[in-house]
Amino acid sequence: MTSTSGLVDRYGRTATDLRVSLTDRCNLRCTYCMPAEGLDWLPNDKILTNDEIVRLVGIAVEHLGIEEVRFTGGEPLVRRGVTDIVARCAQLSPRPDLSVTTNALGLAKLAGPLAEAGLDRVNVSLDTVRSDTFKELTLRDRFHDVVAGLAAADAAGLRPVKVNAVLMRGVNDDQAPELLQWCLDRGYELRFIEQMPLDAQHGWTREQMITADEIFESLATRFVLTPAKEPRGSAPAELFAVDGGPATVGVIASVTRPFCGDCDRVRLTADGQVRNCLFAREESDLMTAMREGASDEELADRWRVAVLGKRPGHGIDDVTFLQPSRPMSAIGG
Ligand code: SAM
Ligand code: SF4
Repeated sequence: MTSTSGLVDRYGRTATDLRVSLTDRCNLRCTYCMPAEGLDWLPNDKILTNDEIVRLVGIAVEHLGIEEVRFTGGEPLVRRGVTDIVARCAQLSPRPDLSVTTNALGLAKLAGPLAEAGLDRVNVSLDTVRSDTFKELTLRDRFHDVVAGLAAADAAGLRPVKVNAVLMRGVNDDQAPELLQWCLDRGYELRFIEQMPLDAQHGWTREQMITADEIFESLATRFVLTPAKEPRGSAPAELFAVDGGPATVGVIASVTRPFCGDCDRVRLTADGQVRNCLFAREESDLMTAMREGASDEELADRWRVAVLGKRPGHGIDDVTFLQPSRPMSAIGG
């Protein structure tokens, strides 16, 4: 008999939030993510087709209780057909909440079509509002394209427009207050993310990482932060009201204040592997199974088994911690 249950693990967590990587390729080279020369990109025949992505998202939504689908990468907007994928996922029933995490290159053109296709929201990654620091951090001179992309997303109604920022010691760690002010002035919701050991170069060290405590200290030089009233639930960001609100700022302290106990995420890589955690060392190959003719029920069962084996936490603090062999850009951040 086929099970009809959702994606539950041994620790009682249920995954309802699916991150789908549309590609491992990217047009920036953020130093905390990938090396200047890029990576060995997956060959095209090893990447899920648009039809395969829509089929797997359909199984997740219709059989497995997924309620939110976020497209990411690599850079999801470099994938041809991203608008079509969104449009087809918006036809699913029950209709999932649809969002994209993007560096916003190309968003100036795509925001309108994506909103029309049914996209609900965007998260844009922007670590600085100085174009020279942007170039130093991403190795590309594209700051103004990101600004235009953000404005287009806002104009297209992809709200709330969220901005994700990573601080790097000696590069932009003195810029947190000005980035927050810039976002407040435009009505964007800013979230700082602690740097995680997920870069392809394996350059992360705990000593170099800017901690949530350091971020608070820096923001407190210009703003008064008080814990926001909304319950956090499974959201990774701890939210704070800025100067009494209603504007907020978030801090995602994945390393110093892990939230694994409340995690509701599961990931699908561009080559069709289910990962039950960013830091998982095992994957479950849905692409091969699908190409060998597996039914929707069989794929759903494989997916359930993959989630069942999720570990209780990422274990970054354990002496036995091993960085996953795939970098963030190939997993889907
Ligand atoms: N290219 C898109 C973008 O940059 O938004 C989507 C993929 S990117 C891997 C997703 C998010 O992961 C971005 O917000 C990025 O800042 C973040 N990220 C990448 N490497 C990271 C790391 N080592 N630690 C923490 N966040 C990281
Ligand atoms: Fe590309 Fe996003 Fe990684 Fe930056 S963080 S290199 S934009 S995938």
